[in-house]
Amino acid sequence: MTFSPSHPVTRLAPSPTGALHLGNARTFLINWLLARQNGWKIILRIEDIDGPRIKPNADKQAMEGLAWLGIDWDDGPIYQSTRLPIYQKAIEDLLAAGKAYPCLCTRKEVETAASAPHAEDGAAVYPGTCRGRFATIEAAHRAAGKPPSIRFAVPPGITQFTDCFRGPTQFDVAKQLGDFVIAKADGTPAYQLAVVIDDAQSGVTEIVRGDDLLDSTPRQMLLYHALGLSHAIPHYTHVPLVIGPDGRRLAKRHGDTRLATYRAAGVSPADILALLAKWCGITPKSCSARATDLLDNFTLANLPATPIVFDGNLAD
Ligand SMILES: [Zn+2]
Repeated sequence: MTFSPSHPVTRLAPSPTGALHLGNARTFLINWLLARQNGWKIILRIEDIDGPRIKPNADKQAMEGLAWLGIDWDDGPIYQSTRLPIYQKAIEDLLAAGKAYPCLCTRKEVETAASAPHAEDGAAVYPGTCRGRFATIEAAHRAAGKPPSIRFAVPPGITQFTDCFRGPTQFDVAKQLGDFVIAKADGTPAYQLAVVIDDAQSGVTEIVRGDDLLDSTPRQMLLYHALGLSHAIPHYTHVPLVIGPDGRRLAKRHGDTRLATYRAAGVSPADILALLAKWCGITPKSCSARATDLLDNFTLANLPATPIVFDGNLAD
């Protein structure tokens, strides 16, 4: 397939900080089905700047797992770790424009300083302690004898968007989430900044992801505006997650749900796809050996609006 520059583009972005498991495989499948139904170009991106948390070979395993299910892509992989100077430039631009500032607060200080308001995920809303405190990174560094992190100065007001699955959604980012970190003290760009730069530069127009990232979206939209990229803000589709019987996001504590483990145990892609299909609201067919077999029967309208509970049993 060939794609023009004005063509819709999406991305699959497995994180090499963990293995591909049933939960994220389902989100990737939904993203892939929407892309292949609608002719979107798919870019594969590896978000590998989270230094110490990166697991060796997790990128290759993720790609193998996707390919095993028949989930393919048109371009990439693009590794974020090869793009650090590009993120650095954006951080410097935001600092120079007064849209970001150095912050010396520790996590503990932020938690102590925050009064009542807390973000939905339980993280403290940063109270803006360091806003206007230091003229430059160097001044902050000298003052504390340690390098500062960099925070984005969130402008006041409501940020709204129409989620393709959830409908109209809005946040007051300043009140609900606060000024957020765009570069860690060691210089590593934060997730929010890196994905905005990458998505804009790759021409990504469609983002499909788990709704644990719902409150990242208004923050990322503010970064698009701040970076002069308002025209590039994509469409967003946030889908409910797979959770364990305890109501928490599927993870190690719920047992080993890694695709690689099922594969090693002789489970077939068809067995996994049967379960993922059901989780996507697709009426099961007798045998779906490849992801392409699900294309005719998937529609976002039939996707369950509540989280999927997985009890560990593949045959459920
Ligand atoms: Zn601070």
